[in-house]
Amino acid sequence: MELDMAEHTCEEPESRVAESLVVVVPCHDEQSTVPKFLKACALKVEAPLQAMGVVPTYLFVDDGSNDGTLQVLRDVAGARKDVAYLSFSRNFGKEAAMYAGLKAASSFGPDYAAIMDCDLQDPPELLPDMVARIRRGSCDRVSARRVSRTGEPPIRSWFARRFYALMKHVVDFELVDGARDFSVMTPRFVSAVLSCGEYNRFTKGLFGWVGFSTEWVAYPNVERVAGETSWSFWALMHYALDGIVAYTVRPLEVLAGFGAVTSLIATCALVFVVVRALLFGDPVAGWPSLMTVVILTGGLLMLALGIIGFYLSKIYLEVKRRPLYVVAEAHGVDA
Ligand code: UDP
Ligand code: MG
Repeated sequence: MELDMAEHTCEEPESRVAESLVVVVPCHDEQSTVPKFLKACALKVEAPLQAMGVVPTYLFVDDGSNDGTLQVLRDVAGARKDVAYLSFSRNFGKEAAMYAGLKAASSFGPDYAAIMDCDLQDPPELLPDMVARIRRGSCDRVSARRVSRTGEPPIRSWFARRFYALMKHVVDFELVDGARDFSVMTPRFVSAVLSCGEYNRFTKGLFGWVGFSTEWVAYPNVERVAGETSWSFWALMHYALDGIVAYTVRPLEVLAGFGAVTSLIATCALVFVVVRALLFGDPVAGWPSLMTVVILTGGLLMLALGIIGFYLSKIYLEVKRRPLYVVAEAHGVDA
């Protein structure tokens, strides 16, 4: 199951034998988009790749779809040798699907592995250029980056931009605004990503965390070709929070700092109040303001506990060491 770790070289294309590319495609309720995806690849990807001497295999990961996605995949894989699939026993999420796909892809010992969404929001016509770039050997990952968010709900775009702006300050690796999971990677890059077996996954962060050099391909946003997004606003918020908690303990540091400063101020205020009471007596005035401070402090403590609890819940999920996914069916690839 391990990747062929052959070093990535930069020979001229003419001098090479055919190279292989496995394209991992996570799918959740995509029965209408799978045929469109394959058609678009046939039109825009296969001839340019063939001209470069690169042979693609499509590895679909059915992430517990509730529609007819699995049947569509069975039909296509039955008819085509270059299509394989895995099907999960239930919906484990796109992160698990990408991990499973990359892990299974590595059993082919490919020269390159790619990740692409099924809904054509990752334009297939970019793939040949991405493969051409990685073949030059100057980087281990070529990733696509949206430079616009047209068609996306404005509130979602706003929060996404805030998230990337915040992450820029709290993580010490590159996390690019508009970065997609859409990437072409060398075996050693995939191997590094797979070595991060954590349960709470945030692949865009992991791609940055493992390092190596990356080239970016910019493109304007494309809307989904059919079907609906599987991500609700709250699911995305949760994903963003997972991203923060997975890569930085800065919120805990801020809490500790805030606690230290408030304790210091409270101690000074206490000394002041005691001294004043000793010198001038103790009138009962100030009860409302006192209550406000007590309630505010209670609220801040609850917030602090909530943040700590959030980290704790992630540790809890990690220490259980459950598998990231369960495969119910596989075709053309080891699960
Ligand atoms: N996806 C998945 N599991 C999920 C949700 C999504 O495998 O639980 C897949 C989905 O089929 C698509 C890709 O991940 O190929 C991106 O999902 P989607 O288009 O719903 O997200 P968006 O583009 O709106 O961020
Ligand atoms: Mg999409």
